[in-house]
Amino acid sequence: MTAGATPAAADPCRACGACCAYAADWPRFTLEDDAALARIPPAYVDARGTGMRCLGDRCAALDGEVGRATSCAVYELRPDVCRACLPGDEACTIARTRFGLAALDPPAANPHL
Ligand code: SF4
Ligand code: SF4
Repeated sequence: MTAGATPAAADPCRACGACCAYAADWPRFTLEDDAALARIPPAYVDARGTGMRCLGDRCAALDGEVGRATSCAVYELRPDVCRACLPGDEACTIARTRFGLAALDPPAANPHL
């Protein structure tokens, strides 16, 4: 995920957000360096500093309603795992299925890069 400045018609994430609300252990930190992690507002970081803070399964930085209209409050600063989940990939399909959303076709291009 998820939505940033990409026009809605070109970014299915803007009407989704499922991967950001799938599991509390998903938006974890992996290969980010200390400088990248320091830029994420502390209010969105979990108590152990190992990933994004979640409310239940939902990332605290996710705004909006899953399956309707969503955005990421830290889009430009989001962790690597968020950048790696691509519309139409396996993780995307699993997350969308959880929320009753149809799977997407694998993208010809990643709108997030
Ligand atoms: S589940 Fe797929 S379409 Fe939905 S926000 Fe994540 S990457 Fe985008
Ligand atoms: S940081 Fe943003 S892109 Fe990553 S899970 Fe949270 S809301 Fe989604």
